[in-house]
Amino acid sequence: MTTANLLDFDLEGLAAFCERLGEKRFRATQLFRWIHQRGASDFSQMTDLAKSLREKLATTAHVEALPVVAQHESADGTIKWLFDVGDGNAVEAVFIPEDDRGTLCVSSQAGCAVGCRFCSTGHQGFSRNLTTGEIVAQLWFAEHFLRRHLQRDERVISNVVMMGMGEPLQNYTALVPALRTMLDDNAYGLSRRRLTVSTSGVVPMMDRLGEDCPVALAVSLHAPNDALRSDLVPLNRKYPIAELLAACKRYLAHAPRDFITFEYCMLDGVNDQPEHARELIELVRSQGVSCKFNLIPFNPFPASGLVRSPQPRVLAFARILAEAGIVTTVRKTRGDDIDAACGQLAGDVKDRTHAAERMAQRRTVVLHPALGKVSRASSSPAKEQ
Ligand code: SAH
Ligand code: SF4
Repeated sequence: MTTANLLDFDLEGLAAFCERLGEKRFRATQLFRWIHQRGASDFSQMTDLAKSLREKLATTAHVEALPVVAQHESADGTIKWLFDVGDGNAVEAVFIPEDDRGTLCVSSQAGCAVGCRFCSTGHQGFSRNLTTGEIVAQLWFAEHFLRRHLQRDERVISNVVMMGMGEPLQNYTALVPALRTMLDDNAYGLSRRRLTVSTSGVVPMMDRLGEDCPVALAVSLHAPNDALRSDLVPLNRKYPIAELLAACKRYLAHAPRDFITFEYCMLDGVNDQPEHARELIELVRSQGVSCKFNLIPFNPFPASGLVRSPQPRVLAFARILAEAGIVTTVRKTRGDDIDAACGQLAGDVKDRTHAAERMAQRRTVVLHPALGKVSRASSSPAKEQ
């Protein structure tokens, strides 16, 4: 008999499940806390639940962790896990500790159907959507592992970014209950400002997210015009830049932050020229979107045929944006010493994401528009928003 994976439920879903078992809804809150706040998966441990309920749960439900294929810890504290999701597929989650926060980068799909030219996940193709339980399991495991590992009683993960493998807004049905669980005070209690969905621009789903579960939004822009963006992000042919920016403006009416973060992967000779920066300024001004820019140095992989922009060009690009009054950050790489390990892993499993490389880029250079010059700050996409 198949039993329900309780990680698939947000609190509302768990309450409905408890009702189906003939239990009062408030039991769901107790159960939810045991699972998410205390990391319990064994119902017999849940001593304040009636024995009869524990017995019912033992035959109808389970809490399903994802098997860890590999774990890599960087000297700077960045930890990357590779989880087995079956059929030879693996997904990554990356923990990035900072002085005042702990950020977990979470995957939403095995592979990705969008097929961006500069993204190794995109080159790998699409395998399948993760379930709500598989998305939540990454946080559930990481949070409780880290509490034991760091010997901390209180919450370790303060920020979650949906920036691992996959396009979260192409897995909307599974994503929303996962976000609700992350936000729930009876579970992880993240604030909406510290939970970021990153999208390549699935316009209709951006609108739905704004209505259903507004959290911080990052949009992967990567180009200032449709010709270039369609070449880099094929989804742009369906939802061109004008529609995307209009959706950003609509989203801002619901968003917990008063700006959208635009991610921009810097590709040598492709999108990194001063005229691209000026075109971007013109674009966001003409559309009137309140935004910040996060410039990401490209993490190269052979099949892409693309090259990372040299750092002086990235800084020059950032300065042009900053001088136009747009807050701009440049991610710097962290967790370098596990990048090699990531490459090794890529040989063993289908994973080609290099999410660790692109997400473990945390010490950022922040350009303040007021100053128009570079200052150094310890920051992260989640903090920037
Ligand atoms: N699919 C979503 C979220 C996952 S990708 C999205 O595209 O927004 C998270 C971020 O990593 C995106 O901004 C993406 O453009 C960036 N990225 C992907 N491949 C990269 C690479 N090779 N180097 C640097 N950044 C990359
Ligand atoms: Fe998919 Fe995002 Fe990679 Fe594009 S950048 S292929 S949307 S994961």
